[in-house]
Amino acid sequence: MARYTGPVCRLCRRQGEKLFLKGDRCLTPKCAIERRVGPPGQRGTRRRRVSERGLQLREKQKVKHIYGLLEKQLFRHFTSARGMSGVTGDNFLQILESRLDNVVFRLGFASSRNQARQLVTHGHMVVNERATDIPSYLLTVGDQISWTERGRKTEHFKMMSEEIKGKPIPEWLSLDAQNMQGRVLTAPTRDLVGTRVDDRLIIEYYSR
Ligand code: SF4
Repeated sequence: MARYTGPVCRLCRRQGEKLFLKGDRCLTPKCAIERRVGPPGQRGTRRRRVSERGLQLREKQKVKHIYGLLEKQLFRHFTSARGMSGVTGDNFLQILESRLDNVVFRLGFASSRNQARQLVTHGHMVVNERATDIPSYLLTVGDQISWTERGRKTEHFKMMSEEIKGKPIPEWLSLDAQNMQGRVLTAPTRDLVGTRVDDRLIIEYYSR
């Protein structure tokens, strides 16, 4: 499956804020934003006025990078959100959060969404007792997420089953850390998600 493979800290530097794309490193002083490294490029330090369109584009790029998606995938989710009843922005965030790779990350089975996607595509995850290797698979309330037998034999599984103990997880999910199983308790509504995204700008970006 296609994904961005370039340097990820550069994306945060471009946005001027932490997007938490590198797992645990993002929480250390090694983080480029913590070290106050400026925007990438030779002219990165120049201050420029950003147009309204530029702000919309920047916010759209931010969501794209946070969830590790390509343009086409993001637009597909946006189109689905627009076709649903209710508020498009809320639907959009809900769809992004309900992706299997995101839930694997949120449960603490992986330290970044990128790593979570790898776990899924390598066939290590099970949804409702069925092996699922599609990162964009959308989970619904009641779905159970666990590991395949092959996944449970990996070094990563052993490491994460130690690290996961005591880690906080979002209210809309539940975790049985002993058995490394998770469940979707409720739909991921905006107030439960906590991702700082101005979806109004994204809607305006796609509405032109
Ligand atoms: Fe972004 Fe993480 Fe790199 Fe910091 S360490 S710049 S938060 S990807």
